[in-house]
Amino acid sequence: MISVRDGQNQILAQISGPTPPELLAITRARERVLADDLRAPFDVPPTDNSAVDGYAVASGDVPASGTRDLAVVAELPAGALFEGALTAGQAIRIMTGAPMPRGADTVYPQEVVERSDGRVRVGAIKKGANVRMRGEDVQAGTVAIEHGTVLRPQELGLIASLGFWQIPVHRRPRVALLSTGDEVVEPGTPRKAGQIYDANRFTLRGSIEQCGGEVLDLGIVPDVRDELRARLLAAAEVGDIVVTSGGVSVGVLDLVKDVLGEIGAIDFWQVAMQPGRPLAFGRINAAHFFGLPGNPVASMLASMLFLRPAIYKLAGRRRLFPDTAEATTLEPISKRKGRREFKRGIVEWRNGRWEARTTGPQGSGILSSMAAGNCLIVLEEERGDVAAGETVLVEPF
Ligand code: AMP
Ligand code: MG
Repeated sequence: MISVRDGQNQILAQISGPTPPELLAITRARERVLADDLRAPFDVPPTDNSAVDGYAVASGDVPASGTRDLAVVAELPAGALFEGALTAGQAIRIMTGAPMPRGADTVYPQEVVERSDGRVRVGAIKKGANVRMRGEDVQAGTVAIEHGTVLRPQELGLIASLGFWQIPVHRRPRVALLSTGDEVVEPGTPRKAGQIYDANRFTLRGSIEQCGGEVLDLGIVPDVRDELRARLLAAAEVGDIVVTSGGVSVGVLDLVKDVLGEIGAIDFWQVAMQPGRPLAFGRINAAHFFGLPGNPVASMLASMLFLRPAIYKLAGRRRLFPDTAEATTLEPISKRKGRREFKRGIVEWRNGRWEARTTGPQGSGILSSMAAGNCLIVLEEERGDVAAGETVLVEPF
C-alpha cells in the first residue's frame, strides 16, 4: 500500500515540463495557462489622469483656508491632451480619464465647486486629490502576470490594457480516454440485460475538460486482450496522457494489467484510500498512462487526486492542488485508521461557520452521492471515527 501523498508525488515526479507554448488570441485564452511572464511595455495608466469629472487646478494656487475664484480656461474630455500649461488663477474642466494638464496636480469633483459664468469657486483641498498616477496600476517593465497563471477574465482585461491581443499559452494537454468492460455500453444505444451504461467516460471527460485538458474520446473497449492492446497503443499515439477506467482490480477479466505489462512500463498500486484502492500508473511509449478503477465514484475521485495534478503540471500551472477549508461535521462519520477516506459531503455556511454533513450512502458505485454533494470531506490517515461536532477538512467540488 502507498499513501495518497506518495502516489501523487511519484506521479508528479514522472511528469516532465509543461506542453509547448502556442500563440492564442486573448478572445480564446480564458482558462488557459500563460507560458511566459507578461511584462508591461508601458506604464498603466500611461499618464497622470483625473479620477473624476471636475476641475483640475494647481494646489499651490488655492489658499489653505477660505475660497478662491478660478477662471475655467478649457474643457478636457477623456482622450484629449491640453497643449498649454495651467497658470495662476486658472482651472480646467476635466473629465474622468483625461490626462492631467501641465501645471495641474489636483482635481475638484464637480459636486464640490460652485460654478458661474466661466469661473469656479473652490475651497482648500489636499494636493493630489482625485488624480490617478501614471503607473499606479502597472509599471513599465514589471511582470504584470506571472507564467503559470490561469487566465481569468480579469487577467484577460489586464493583458488587453497592455495592448496585447495574442499571448503565449501552453497547449492543452491531450488526454486519450477509454472505458473498459464487456458489460459497458454507450448511452443512447439499447441496453441488454446485464449491461450498464458507461458513466465513467462522461465524469472523466468533464473532469479533464474542467482542468484544462483536451479530451480525445476513444470509446469503450471490450475485455478482449488483442483489442485492448491495439486500442491502448493507438491511444498512446495521440495522447500526452492515456486514461482508462475499469480492469485494474483482480477480477479474471481485468486485462488492463496484463496487457500493460506487455506494452508499457506500469506500476500497479494499492493506494491507502477509500473509495478507490487500485490504481495503475506508468507509460505506454511516449504517453503517460493512468488506469483508474471502474467504480464510478472511485474513478472520479482517483482522477481528482492523481490525474488532475498531472494535467495541471503538464499544462504549466503553478498551483497543482486545490484549497481546502475546515468545517464542523454535523454527524458522526465512521472512519478506519491507516487510510485516507473521502466522503461526499454537503457544506454550508450556517450559524457563523462552515457546517458539513455526508450525502448519505457512500458506496463507491453510488455516483448520485457525487451529484448530491458539493464537496469532499477528507479524513486523514491517522484519524479514527469522527464524532459530531469535530472539525473536518472539506474540499469544495
Ligand atoms: P472493474 O474494475 O472493471 O471490475 O469495474 C468495477 C466496477 O465498475 C464494475 O461494477 C463495473 O461494471 C463498473 N464499471 C466499470 N467501468 C464502468 C463505466 N465506464 N461506467 C460505469 N461503471 C463502470
Ligand atoms: Mg471491468
